[in-house]
Amino acid sequence: MDEFLKIVNAKIITPQRIIKEGTVLIKNGLIESVGNKNVEVESAIEIDAAGLYLSPGFIDLHIHGGGGADFMDGTEEAFLTIAETHARYGSTALYPTTLTSERKDLLETLETFERANKKNTNGARLMGMHLEGPYFAMNQRGAQDPRYIRNPDPVEYKEIIEASSCVKRWSSAPSWKEP
Ligand SMILES: [Zn+2]
Repeated sequence: MDEFLKIVNAKIITPQRIIKEGTVLIKNGLIESVGNKNVEVESAIEIDAAGLYLSPGFIDLHIHGGGGADFMDGTEEAFLTIAETHARYGSTALYPTTLTSERKDLLETLETFERANKKNTNGARLMGMHLEGPYFAMNQRGAQDPRYIRNPDPVEYKEIIEASSCVKRWSSAPSWKEP
């Protein structure tokens, strides 16, 4: 039998506008309709949003931790804690982000990602790793630890890319001077 969930009386954020007193109907876990009219479905479980906002999940492109854990902690538990914490506060997808660090720590973090990702059933989706550095110009390093900042080394970055297919974003920064 089909399962219906209905969220009524919500301010629904859509790409075009905010629908006031809107209704979202969900059928078997998928959104069936979004609109400003209530729809009668006999067997639906109904949630009254009481005028609160209802938004699509946030996608966090740059995130280091949450719930007291850091992606660089080196444990699967840290990844799962972070994913579950952010899911509770509205992010449905994350790009776990590293700190500038030794090659060994980066490689271990990628391995931890792979293992944690398979166990992540309750958290925000882990979309792939975002490596922040270590290839930054010193004057563009932001909050990164200068001890680990270095010039791009093809031997190192090829090893990292070949070690795992989970790297989806990689931030680097050349030197920059006021023209
Ligand atoms: Zn960062």
